[in-house]
Amino acid sequence: MNLDKFSAHAAEVIDWIVEYYRNIREYPVKSQVKPGDILKQLPEHAPAEAEEFQMLLRDFEKIIMPGITHWQHPRFFAYFPANTSFPSILGEFLTAALASQCMIWQTSPAAAELEERVMQWLRVETGLPKEFTGVIQDTASTATLVSILTAREKATGWSINDDGMSGMTKMAVYCSVEAHSSIEKAVKIAGIGKNNLRKIPVDEKFAMIPGELENAITKDILAGIKPLCVVAALGTTGSTAVDPLRAIGEICRKFKIWYHIDAAFAGTAMLLPEMRHFMDGAEYADTYVFNPHKWLLTNFDCTAYYVKDKEALIKTFEIMPEYLKTPEDQKVNNYRDWGIQLGRRFRALKLWFVIRSYGTNGIRELIRKHLLLAQRLLKLINNAPDFEIMATMNFNTICFRYKPAGIKDEQVIDGLNAELENTVNNSGKMFITHTKLNNKYSLRFVIAQTNVEWQDVEESWYLLKDIAGRLKG
Ligand SMILES: *Cc1c(COP(=O)(O)O)cnc(C)c1O
Repeated sequence: MNLDKFSAHAAEVIDWIVEYYRNIREYPVKSQVKPGDILKQLPEHAPAEAEEFQMLLRDFEKIIMPGITHWQHPRFFAYFPANTSFPSILGEFLTAALASQCMIWQTSPAAAELEERVMQWLRVETGLPKEFTGVIQDTASTATLVSILTAREKATGWSINDDGMSGMTKMAVYCSVEAHSSIEKAVKIAGIGKNNLRKIPVDEKFAMIPGELENAITKDILAGIKPLCVVAALGTTGSTAVDPLRAIGEICRKFKIWYHIDAAFAGTAMLLPEMRHFMDGAEYADTYVFNPHKWLLTNFDCTAYYVKDKEALIKTFEIMPEYLKTPEDQKVNNYRDWGIQLGRRFRALKLWFVIRSYGTNGIRELIRKHLLLAQRLLKLINNAPDFEIMATMNFNTICFRYKPAGIKDEQVIDGLNAELENTVNNSGKMFITHTKLNNKYSLRFVIAQTNVEWQDVEESWYLLKDIAGRLKG
């Protein structure tokens, strides 16, 4: 493809994207294909001869599009969103065009310095104390792993980096039973062992009980196990419960334990001063993570990771092969030493585009709108006789279930809700997912999509209610 052809095809692709967004409500939100449907349409062998771009675009429409679940559909209420926005898409275009590999400062000074600046902007705008320094990671899972590895090395004087784990005292990590699976994954990868992850019980709001945490820590110390790290959630994945960050922070301080806060989804709400009460005590944390690639209009991937002791972080991940040494090393951020990968994408650009295009006021307005839409839906669900709210709504995730009068058997109710979820999703008109709360099947309705309007929420709710009514009969 030469530059002239690129120019023509780029225009076609842009036209395609514009049409896609114009008609996005026409697509089934959740892809309706069956396993193998796409694979069987793809030739077993790679093409030996060059193909025209027209053919690629045609097959993209014909083969690929039916197998896409539309995360940018305004009626996507599943999981947590992975939002994008037009400024983010344009930023990503340019990132792909430059295709810089931003491992160290000299491999693109602007990438390193823009990353430093936008991470500082987000720190200030979300009310994190100035002791925190930010760096972009690919995902919250990686950020949590990076945090636990830094904790491990700092606690052992960097000896595991040097000599490995053998002969080491056992260590333990703590999170609540509602914590994200990425914490268990990190504990496994970091060599702590998942049997040394203590899952602390939660209260009626699904938040960690600090007294139970302290008991578990004391028990480990008595057994000769070293408490390494506590991971608290600011917004669990199941129900967006918020652990008592201050009480947990005080326990971490008392026992000198590394403290990581996982605010992957709800961290974006900290842009709103009226939501900051949820992060009370976050100043105790050693590290803090949230995902602009969830709710902050910036397409996947882009995770904001904050660390207080950046020297410890760098000391944990630093490498110094001769071919990567540069004269500026003492004066600049070489982000290859701030995490796991050597090579890094230029992710700060799309985030910069988003923040400047919306302005912090525009972003705040949209977040507030989402929170308000959720309040309105919560009222409708509360007033519906055959439905039950399953958890306190802290932000914009509503956990609820269908519980028709007269049905008492929990298994039957679980089954009805699973059927309701599947039927609703197979309609293609909306997409929700579920979790289990107190072992009860609970539907999750997350209102945070970039382009969601009240009509999307209201019509989806009435569709769900209607389908539920017909399940009964
Ligand atoms: C989504 C989520 C994660 C994982 O995020 P990734 O960026 O996909 O790794 C971790 N923790 C919580 C609380 C989440 O909601």
